[in-house]
Amino acid sequence: SSTSLTTQVVVLGGGPGGYTAAFRAADLGCEVVLIDDRPALGGVCLNVGCIPSKALLHAAKVLSEAREMQERGISFGAPTVDIDALRGWKDGVVGRLTGGLTGLARKRKVQTVVGVGRFTGSHTIEVADDDGRTTTVSFEQAIVAVGSRPVRLPFVPYDDPRVFDSTGALELRQIPKRLLVIGGGIIGLEMAAVYHELGSAVSVVELAPQVVPGADADLIAPLAARISRQYDAVWTSTSVTAVDATPSGITVSFSGESAPATAQFDAVLVAVGRVPNGGLIDAEVAGLDVDERGFISVDSQQRTNVGHIYAIGDVVGNPMLAHKAVHEGRVAAQNAAGQSSGFDTTLIPSVAYTDPEVAWVGMTENTAAAAGVDVEVGVFPWAASGRSLSLGRDEGLTKLVVEPQTGRILGAGIVGPAAGELIAEATLAIELGALAEDVALTVHAHPTLSETLGMAAEVWEGTITDLY
Ligand code: FAD
Repeated sequence: SSTSLTTQVVVLGGGPGGYTAAFRAADLGCEVVLIDDRPALGGVCLNVGCIPSKALLHAAKVLSEAREMQERGISFGAPTVDIDALRGWKDGVVGRLTGGLTGLARKRKVQTVVGVGRFTGSHTIEVADDDGRTTTVSFEQAIVAVGSRPVRLPFVPYDDPRVFDSTGALELRQIPKRLLVIGGGIIGLEMAAVYHELGSAVSVVELAPQVVPGADADLIAPLAARISRQYDAVWTSTSVTAVDATPSGITVSFSGESAPATAQFDAVLVAVGRVPNGGLIDAEVAGLDVDERGFISVDSQQRTNVGHIYAIGDVVGNPMLAHKAVHEGRVAAQNAAGQSSGFDTTLIPSVAYTDPEVAWVGMTENTAAAAGVDVEVGVFPWAASGRSLSLGRDEGLTKLVVEPQTGRILGAGIVGPAAGELIAEATLAIELGALAEDVALTVHAHPTLSETLGMAAEVWEGTITDLY
């Protein structure tokens, strides 16, 4: 059967970008239809990304701290893991959030259509659901928020249940004895941390010379040191050349300095990046330019090359992060509703929720060097932080990247527990154009990890020299 709908604004994709855009447009008085192929709103982030991974990482953190406290006089006995109960709890967290979105959509009279949408013209999208029903949505303006999907390696036997991507890893079907994580980026390392704490012997292989490629080396060093101690192996500068499913395990071949030629694992998680979904929606039928990778380019108003069609989130480019999608979604919706709104910040914080966490924002030493910008840094090592030591941790550091002539803060990087929360202060400081002096003069509560930001500013000023 087929039905048709007419709306002012259609939003294709119900992830953080899409639902934000839909809700904002509705709040501004537009009639809105929101299309997603999942029955639960929230996209990758809520269903199979940010939220389930953070729930499992919380469990991992509790396990890790319980074990570490045994060396400090507190014993609980060996932790046992009930994987079904843990999965149930994680699914409950996700369900609470996605269910909340359904309520918010209803309250705003945003009409949701479940199914796969494709452009059939510059003002029409056809949505096909699993049961073969189609809905044609005619729109005045569209916001494309179709997100991204995991990159697939051509030589990997994905039909074997022992091989999975991040979505499969988050399903928590089993705890493999020996797990290989292909890809030492943020997603791979977060999943590695979960499975390590749940009892897998984890190995990580990364093509680049360091895990979390691109981040400043000094921020990654404490994380690399910790996981090298904890995991069976962390092979960097190493590529995977073959993955073969055999009855006794998954045999993986490597090419690199430190890795063996082949090794066998009980499961393999492939986390080698994500590709945008722009190539899957017949965008050309609507006249939209999509590049060969599947990205849709937009201007600072989130407008595509077609005036009445906007695009937001992972499908418009890196960094592929939920908070970027949310801000872009708001901008697109405001423009679709007739306002004039722009997204012009380069300040998008990145966080790896590993242990220790790694977070950075604005200019890094790497991006400064690549752009030929002369910067200075103030680095405060957490070995001199009372709060850090009282958490049993001494490997963190807080770094401010500062413009030499003016003292203006251009960027910040933090590694250590709670770095993801701490980066917010630096982000706000940079957004407000703060000088290092402003942060140094700000009174931070003692003893907190946030003090390390003030201290890093003082290190740059030269008012703190002997740290410990
Ligand atoms: P998505 O969330 O990808 O949503 C797009 C939606 O559109 C999906 O539901 C998709 O099924 C649907 N869709 C696609 N094509 C169609 C179509 N043709 N018709 C109908 N529906 C369609 N980011 C963070 O900021 N913090 C984190 O901690 C974090 N952790 C992550 C952990 C994992 C394991 C993964 C995989 C990602 C993580 N991310 C994280 C990234 C984050 O999930 C994405 O950046 C974010 O979801 C992008 O939002 P979006 O709105 O662009 O699209």
